[in-house]
Amino acid sequence: MKRVVLLGSTGSIGTSTAKVALDLPDRIRLVGLAAGNNAKLLADQARQHCPEAVSITDPAQATKLREAFGDSMEVHQGSEGLIKLATLPSADIVLIAIVGTAGLQPALAAIRAGKDIAVASKEILVMAGEIVMSEARKHGVRVLAVDSEHSAIFQCLDGKPSSSVRNLWLTASGGPFRSKTDWPKESFRDITVERALKHPSWVMGRKITLDSATLFNKGLEMIEARWLFDIEMGRVQVLVHPQSIVHSMVEFIDGSIIAQLSTPDMCLPIQYALTYPDRVLNERVQTNLAKLGQLTFEEPDLGRFPALKLARHAGEVGGTLPAVLNAANEVAVEAFWDNRISFDQIPEVVGRTLDRHRVVEHPDLDQILAADGWARTNAVVG
Ligand code: MG
Repeated sequence: MKRVVLLGSTGSIGTSTAKVALDLPDRIRLVGLAAGNNAKLLADQARQHCPEAVSITDPAQATKLREAFGDSMEVHQGSEGLIKLATLPSADIVLIAIVGTAGLQPALAAIRAGKDIAVASKEILVMAGEIVMSEARKHGVRVLAVDSEHSAIFQCLDGKPSSSVRNLWLTASGGPFRSKTDWPKESFRDITVERALKHPSWVMGRKITLDSATLFNKGLEMIEARWLFDIEMGRVQVLVHPQSIVHSMVEFIDGSIIAQLSTPDMCLPIQYALTYPDRVLNERVQTNLAKLGQLTFEEPDLGRFPALKLARHAGEVGGTLPAVLNAANEVAVEAFWDNRISFDQIPEVVGRTLDRHRVVEHPDLDQILAADGWARTNAVVG
C-alpha cells in the first residue's frame, strides 16, 4: 500500500490521480490532498478518499472545510499548509501537481522529510533541478516522473546509467501548428488564443496547452530530462511524432532504441509512478496498434518553433537561466492570453529576457527565486 499525498488535487493531473487511486484501492491510499481554490471539488474528494489532512490556499475556505468536516480530518491553509502536507508523517510519497513555482518549497520539504516525490509540476526540475536531485541523493529518496515523456524514458532506461545512453528522444505531438503548409511562419502572427487551445492529442490545462502550441512545453521537458536522468543537454533530443503513441525513447550506446507506447492517457504514467517498481493490473488503457496503422516521425522545425533552441541554450548554460526561461515564458503566455502580444512574439519575449539576464552559477533556492522574480518584472512585453 502506497500512502500518497497529492498536492494540486483539483487540477488535470490531480483529478486523474484521484481516478487511479479509486481504480487501485488495495495499492494506493490518498492520505493528504491540497488544492488551490476549488473548495467544492476538494470537499468532494475528501468525502470520497477520507484523507488524514487537506489544505487549501484561502483561510476563509479552510474555515468552512473545518466546519464541514469537524475532527474527521486536519485542515491546513496557505503555503504553510502545503509544507504540512508534504511532510505528513504517514506519507510514503508526495505527488506534486501544482501549477507554477508554489510546488518548489513543498518538494524540497518532502525530500528532506525522507519522502519519495513524484513530479508533475515542470517548474520544480526546470528551476531547481540541480538542488532537488542533489537533495534527493543526500536523503536517499526517489524523484519519479509523472509526465508521459519522462515516465517513458524512465521505463525504457530500466535502471541503466546515463553512460549507457547515446541519446534520449523526447517525442512531441508538434501541437496544433505542426503543419508547415497549413501554418507557415508568417501565419503565426494571426493565431488566436482559441485556436492555440485546440490540442490534437491531449486534453490538459490551459498553460500547458499553450506551451504545447509553441513547443515551450517540450523545451521545459528537455531541461527536466537533463536533471532527472543525469545527462547533459547534448544528448537530449526532440522528435515530432503526431500520433502521440510513442511517449519517448532511449537510444543506447550499442544502437538499440527502446520505446514505450500506449494510447495517450495520463492515468498510465501516474499509476506507474505510484506503483513503481510493480506493474499492476488496470484495464483503463487499451492500445490497438493494428487499428492505429501508422506511426510517423519528423524533425522539429526550429525556425517556426524557436522555443526548442531557447530551452537548449538555457539548459546548456544552466545556473539561473532555466528559471528565467520558465518565468519569461509564463509572462509571455499570460500576455498572449490577454491579447497584448501575438503568438509569434512569445518566443521573442523569452529570447530577449534570456539575453538580458546575468546568470548565477550553482544558485541556491533564494537566488533561483530572485531570478524568477527578476524575469517576471523584466520580461519585455509589448
Ligand atoms: Mg509531457
